[in-house]
Parts: sequence; C-alpha cells; structure tokens
Amino acid sequence: MNHLSYTRGPQDKPLLAMTIGQAFDATAARFAEREALVVRHQGLRYSWAELAEQVECCARALLALGVQQGERVGIWAPNCAEWCITQFATAKVGAVLVNINPAYRGSELDYALKQSGCAWLICADAFKTSDYHAMLVALLPELASSQPGTLRSARLPRLRGVISLARQAPAGFLCWHELAGLAAEVAPQRLTERQALLQFDEPINIQYTSGTTGSPKGATLSHYNILNNGYMVGESLGLNERDRLVIPVPLYHCFGMVMGNLGCLTHGSTMIYPAPSFEPEATLLAVAEERATVLYGVPTMFIAALDHPRRAEFDLSSLRSGIMAGATCPIEVMRRVIDELHMGEVQIAYGMTETSPVSLQTAADDELELRVTSVGRTQPQLESKIVDAEGRILPRGETGELCTRGYSVMLGYWDNPQATAEAIDPGRWMHSGDLAVMDEQGYVRIVGRSKDMIIRGGENIYPREVEEFLFTHPAVADVQVIGVADEKYGEEIAAWVQLHPGHACDAEALRAYCKANIAHFKVPRYFKFVDAFPMTVTGKVQKFRMREQMQAELGQAAP
Ligand code: AMP
Repeated sequence: MNHLSYTRGPQDKPLLAMTIGQAFDATAARFAEREALVVRHQGLRYSWAELAEQVECCARALLALGVQQGERVGIWAPNCAEWCITQFATAKVGAVLVNINPAYRGSELDYALKQSGCAWLICADAFKTSDYHAMLVALLPELASSQPGTLRSARLPRLRGVISLARQAPAGFLCWHELAGLAAEVAPQRLTERQALLQFDEPINIQYTSGTTGSPKGATLSHYNILNNGYMVGESLGLNERDRLVIPVPLYHCFGMVMGNLGCLTHGSTMIYPAPSFEPEATLLAVAEERATVLYGVPTMFIAALDHPRRAEFDLSSLRSGIMAGATCPIEVMRRVIDELHMGEVQIAYGMTETSPVSLQTAADDELELRVTSVGRTQPQLESKIVDAEGRILPRGETGELCTRGYSVMLGYWDNPQATAEAIDPGRWMHSGDLAVMDEQGYVRIVGRSKDMIIRGGENIYPREVEEFLFTHPAVADVQVIGVADEKYGEEIAAWVQLHPGHACDAEALRAYCKANIAHFKVPRYFKFVDAFPMTVTGKVQKFRMREQMQAELGQAAP
C-alpha cells in the first residue's frame, strides 16, 4: 500500500489527439440536427449544423483579415453567442484566443492586449457600468481615422483593428455583421488548408489569472490541454448528446469555455447560456424552461439560486447533475443542492486555470459523505501529489501544497519564463499554492490557500474549518473567515457573515454558538454582517480586500 500523498488517475480512457477544430467538425457532422447552442437573452438557437455555419463564416472572415496561425485575437464581452462562435472560429484558424475579463477597465485591457500582443480585438458595446466602445476610443484615439485593419496605435503597436458586436459602432470599428461579407471573399478551401497545418500541441488560448499580487499572468493553453480537460470533465459527468447544460458561469474563464463549451462539444450536448452574466432568476428559468439536465456554478451562485425567493415556482425536476467548483464548496450548500435543486449526482471539481482547469473531481457514485466533504480523486490521465515546503511528498493525512502533473498543465505563462519556472518545477509539476490533505483512498480535501492560513498565538487555523462550522448555524447563508493583524496574538480571526433572508442573528449569538462547539482559539473575535463579499467575476472571494477593509475599520475604531 502506498502511503505517500501521491496518486495517478485511471489510465484506461485515451486522450483526444486532435485539434479543437477537428473535434468541432466531427461533432457538427455527427449531431448536425441536434441543438448545439441556446442563448436565451439573445433569443438564439442553433443546431450543430447552424453553429458550424456561423463558425465557418467567422473563421473565413478572420482569414480575410489576415489573421495568421499563432496570432492573438482578444475577446472582451460578457456571455453571448458570438463568444462561443469566436472560440471555435479562432481555434479553426489557429489563432490564440485571449480571454479578457468583461469587468476589466481601460488600463487592465491595455495591459492584456499589450502583454499578449493581440492583433485583433472583438468587443461588446456596453455592459452594466462598462462602456467598451468609449474605453476603446479613449485608449485608441487613432482608431477613428483608420480603415478597419490598418490601425497604427502608438500604445498598442500590434493591434490592427477592433470588431464590435454591436449593430453600429463608432468610426474605425468593424462590425460583427460585416464579417459575412469578408468571409465571402475567402474560398472554403483556404480554411481547410489552414486547419490542416495546425498541431494539437500548439497554443490556442491565453487566460489571465486572477492573481492577487503582481500583474496578471497569461496562462497559455494548447488545444490538447483544454480539449482533453473539457472531455474528461464531461466523461465524469456522463454527458451525452441528450444532455442540456446550463452555463451561468463566465465564458472568459475556463469554467465556462472549457468545462462548459468544450465539455459539450466533445459529447454533442447542448450549451445553454441563461444571461450575459450570472443572474439567479434567469438561471432557474433556463433550467425549468429548457428542461436542463446539468447545471454548473461556483458556490455563491448555488447559494443565490437556493435562496431565491421564487425558487419554488420553477420546475427543476429535469436536473440530474452538475458541477460546483472554483472555490471552497461548503458542505451545507452541497447538501441543499442535492435535496432542493434535485441535483442528486452533483459533483465537486477542483482545479486552476493553469491546469486547464480540472485536476480532481468527485464521481457520481462516490458516497455522499465524500462528495460533500472532498474534491474527489485525481482525474484520468493526471497525477496529484501533496508536498511540504521543501517539495518532499508527505505521508497520507498530512497537510501540504497540492501539485498536478500531466496533459492538462499549461504550456507556460505567456512571455514570462520566470513566472513559469516559479509555478512549474523541473519535473513538470504545477504548484497550486493550495493546502490539501489526501486520505488513504486518494480523496483530497482542500483546507485553504497557503497564504490564507491564520496563525493566532502560534495556533494554525484553517479559515475553511471555521467557515464550515459557521455554515451549520441556521441563520448563516454564507461566511468568509480571514485573519487580521493583532498586537497580542499576531493575528485574530474575523468572520464576515451573510444571513439568510428573514433571519436575524447578532455577533453575540454567533460567538456563543462557536464557544459551545469549537475550540476557543478558533472562535472569531470579530463578526461583520454583510450583504455581499468582494468578489471576482469568477466567484472568487477577494479575501485580501476583506482584510484591507477590516484592517482599516479596526484601525479607525482603535482609541
Ligand atoms: P482559477 O485559476 O481562477 O480557476 O482559480 C484557481 C483556484 O481556485 C485554486 O487554486 C483554488 O484555490 C480555488 N478552487 C478551485 N476549485 C476549488 C474547489 N473545488 N475547492 C476549493 N478551492 C477551489
């Protein structure tokens, strides 16, 4: 019996040795008449054959615009049909799609476009408080006087033009609907020839990671990386062409575009986008009206769906499965998702952008207890290990850093060999920065981020443990625990709590509840009641912001 914290996933399922374009063509041919994509907020429905036409049109237009193999094409838009079409079209012409967070503002956009050297940018016109056109006009004053494709920008010398998804755009922009005319100039044969040149190990996607320190880094992923990850995630879920998958998570993150879009592509399942960005009611409505079988979400999305005042009105009985991932999945929330959302087979997945993303996943037939308390076992064709600070593999049951090796590990950070070398060691292991424990059966539990651990008076406290405990209180809907500086103990525990609607509870009551049930040093000193946490668009709570805010509040409150 191997007692080291090392496991290898099953080897029996072969990896797909093909490009994304080849996989797309195969699915479009095989499931031509079945529904491929439903975009509810745009009122659009495409069969695989119709989607293939759209993708072909966009791909040939990109060729007409002179997009070369390996050139970067950015997309800056909330979830929409064009996002999906662009993803597959860029893959067909071998252009590297650069996912740009729709919440980015001008300076962040500038950074991503410059760092990746984008030749073209595809953008929405406006969304929520972001006026994309206005930000681009400000960033690129030369655009207005340039013919599409001939931009000469001092700030972004590699950018040749911008394509707007709007019907009408300011001078200098090309509009999406004009792509059909451009495509007509390019013979279908040219696209076939381009596709034949592509290799599956070539980069096809750059995703900027939501790093909390330093500049964002562009995780560079190949066809092989992400196509296979989408495939393996779908296999775990048992997807097939009759499945209908609701994708409320953002497409600019791998949860949407890999686990969602490529998971469906590799199984002929239907992709359903309920709204441009997450809206609980639109998600519930999409499940009910589309008779969806599978639902994805980060934990906060499931909490919002569970607590939605009109939830009982929606018939969710078509659901059988789904994935909760992206952040710690609280046990109580998992239980409610199973009971109240009918997702009996729901699974937890764990991963990170740099590993395409998923490296561990629970299985539908794992015992309930394991499905709600662990992130499962190593995915097929991958390896996991847990190491100490010196990189030595720890015995089972001990806490250390989780590392992943295999087909899913990114090619590297775009144009940043130093950061790549810090993340991927010479043995090709990707270091996650997450603290985890592996049990005898190979099930892994995530206990925190290495830098999130609270050290209070010499006691190590994992915020996750305190959060899980507070979740058991009936009034608590969501909770996040952080450490704040303290003169006496070095650090003290602070809990930010969101209450269920209609429940009242104060700090005293929660403190008493903790004192009666957990060790005294784990009882939060501070409780703060909030309506929301500072979050990234991908549902990651920004604990560093909470810490800053709490620190400022405590500093001000001090005599
Ligand atoms: P990203 O690269 O944005 O996908 O973020 C990756 C990080 O999300 C990981 O390093 C983890 O800290 C966190 N994460 C993802 N999935 C889970 C999960 N199931 N449980 C706990 N943390 C998770």
